[in-house]
Amino acid sequence: MSDKHQPLGGNEMPRFGGPATMLRLPTKETAEGLDVAFVGVPFDIGTSNRPGARLAPRQIRAESCLIRPYNMATRAAPFDSLQVADVGDVAINTFNLEASIDIIEQFYRDLLAHDCRPLTLGGDHTIVLPILRALAGKYGPLGLVHVDAHADVNDTMFGERITHGTPFRRAVEEGLIEGRRVAQIGLRATGYAADDFDWPRAQGFRVVQVEECWHRSLTPLMDEVRAQLGSGPVYLSFDIDGLDPAFAPGTGTPEIGGLTSVQGIEIIRGCRGLDLVGGDLVEVSPPYDASGNTALLAANLLFEMLCVMPGVAYRK
Ligand code: MN
Ligand code: MN
Repeated sequence: MSDKHQPLGGNEMPRFGGPATMLRLPTKETAEGLDVAFVGVPFDIGTSNRPGARLAPRQIRAESCLIRPYNMATRAAPFDSLQVADVGDVAINTFNLEASIDIIEQFYRDLLAHDCRPLTLGGDHTIVLPILRALAGKYGPLGLVHVDAHADVNDTMFGERITHGTPFRRAVEEGLIEGRRVAQIGLRATGYAADDFDWPRAQGFRVVQVEECWHRSLTPLMDEVRAQLGSGPVYLSFDIDGLDPAFAPGTGTPEIGGLTSVQGIEIIRGCRGLDLVGGDLVEVSPPYDASGNTALLAANLLFEMLCVMPGVAYRK
């Protein structure tokens, strides 16, 4: 028997029963002794269009009940070697964005004090800024794999500097990420000006517009991304709207012509070998997710992230 936490099995309690924790893992008050912690951030007061991402952590946890502990494709068995638990939600102040940003940063600083690697259930994309602040405080400037329809590098939105469309501009300004070690994948659709994608290129980012991805496997691209990002610490930020609304309709700012769910899996599996210090899955909006399939997809993508975290066991 493993000494690690195991998800509650479908033969011990029906999948639709029991506590709705992430992957049916135990809950813990702190990250003490954990290698990886699932964290919910029920925050959507930084959104510019449809709201609802505040409801996503709970919904992703509920849909995650279907996921079994072993990855049939990659042979990853994360619970053989990693101590993983659900540490619950960050108690944000939903009436105050600036205060919430500080609350989130402090929560992650506390997690990181235990040498734990966080996988986050967002929340809108604003939350990546305080997460990156905490991580860069521990590791220094990070590499970044960013999947999204949008570059999220606006200077301001409606005059505000902290929103879900501005976090990576702030991250560059604050030295939280290293431009030459950033890859943005899936960017597309309509913008205000060419600068929306040219500004990140000017920072040294590799910008992979979605048209480069159409009709092809992204496994070769990820070989290049791993070479670009090298051996330093890397964060993976996955906005569900990087995928096409056919696969992920439950989101706030959907854009047509997006990545497939298969390409999303290829991107995450292609992060194996990087020194991932954390990851997130953001922008799921349950009110627009009538079937629950967007939250189910999000839960599976978070499991795939867990399966490429450093130290994961792969069975023969
Ligand atoms: Mn985004
Ligand atoms: Mn987006």
